[in-house]
Amino acid sequence: MENNRKVTVFKFGGTSMGSVQTIEHVAELCARHKPAAVVVSAMAGETNRLVNLAKSIDLRTDVPEYDLLVASGEQVSVALLSLALRKRGVKPYPMLASQAGIRTDAQHSKALIQSVDRSLMVQKIADGFLPIVAGFQGVTVEGVFTSLGRGGSDTSAVAVAAGIGAGTCVIYTDVDGVYTTDPRVYPQAKLIRKICYEEMLEMASQGSKVLHIRSVQLAAKYGIDLWVKNTFSDSEGTQMIEATANMESEIVTGIACSKEECWFTLGPIPDPQNNCLAKVFGALADSSINVDIITQNLEPQGKSINFTVATSDQSQAVTVLSKAFHNTSLKVLDNVAKVSIVGVGMRTHAGVAARLFRCLEANQVPVLLVTTSEIKVACLIDRDLADAAVKALHKEFIS
Ligand code: ASP
Ligand code: MG
Repeated sequence: MENNRKVTVFKFGGTSMGSVQTIEHVAELCARHKPAAVVVSAMAGETNRLVNLAKSIDLRTDVPEYDLLVASGEQVSVALLSLALRKRGVKPYPMLASQAGIRTDAQHSKALIQSVDRSLMVQKIADGFLPIVAGFQGVTVEGVFTSLGRGGSDTSAVAVAAGIGAGTCVIYTDVDGVYTTDPRVYPQAKLIRKICYEEMLEMASQGSKVLHIRSVQLAAKYGIDLWVKNTFSDSEGTQMIEATANMESEIVTGIACSKEECWFTLGPIPDPQNNCLAKVFGALADSSINVDIITQNLEPQGKSINFTVATSDQSQAVTVLSKAFHNTSLKVLDNVAKVSIVGVGMRTHAGVAARLFRCLEANQVPVLLVTTSEIKVACLIDRDLADAAVKALHKEFIS
């Protein structure tokens, strides 16, 4: 499928699929630009409705019927878009993820894609059809239903692109692209024309919601040109690229903020064998709970361990830790947020963290925990101060 590198996969999100009118518009766009395949999300709000329905019966998310239900909105979108395309003389080939060969592991509600069996898609494309694929869904080798985690249809789209050997994947959404920070928080935020994969990964993992983080990882891995564009405007959008030397002249490319964080303090735990960190984080890892900032305090009675997890994992983390450490004090604070500055330029400029702390201090924002990578500094702060911190940091580092 070498020559397929020239072809493109389009993905349309919930607002693009939000109504019959917008679906007709999406069909026009597809008829005009002729992508090789299209991946769709559920209509806006639909997945939340389905999740709530499931939860009203049982809170379990680790069973196939949960995935079958919550990812059924995508089936509706596939059918509606296919109808709108057929009406326009385009030959759609509607596909559920199982038909599109999107194979995952068996972690229900947060499955990881393992492979894409492209055979049916490739055959249908060769026969002149346009595959319309349900995002967010997966299936195990045994044929058991899975889903990829909230926001996962971006990842479906990049996986389909990699599967059919497409060189480009365009994620169509309701904003013009990736901004230096959330324009709803700071209206002077600027559209980023080009951002490198690494920066985008940090932005996504630090709270920018524009793209599902795994889609960026996959695109970088398979060398797929990834774009974010607006379904409803002709704006050029944001392109993800490999880092280039002159990118380093900008110190900070973007400011991310996540308000879906909670802060755990466990301990003190006596630790004569020096293995309590492995035990704590092993227990969380066994339940596939991602941990972010980690610090430890050495106290006379033992180690006090601080870390953050996403709010969506909060109750599961409490259950796991209360079981594994039942006699140990566990405190959870959920009125926190994480603000981060991200930029590859940080590699070559000293003093960035100092400038960040001075700026937060001048704006009366106390820093609770800090974590850094080569291209990011992230601070845990009071959630009520998050918007003010984002504005102050944008003014300090960007404009
Ligand atoms: N419909 C799913 C969700 O709302 C997947 C997606 O939109 O990417 O999470
Ligand atoms: Mg999304």
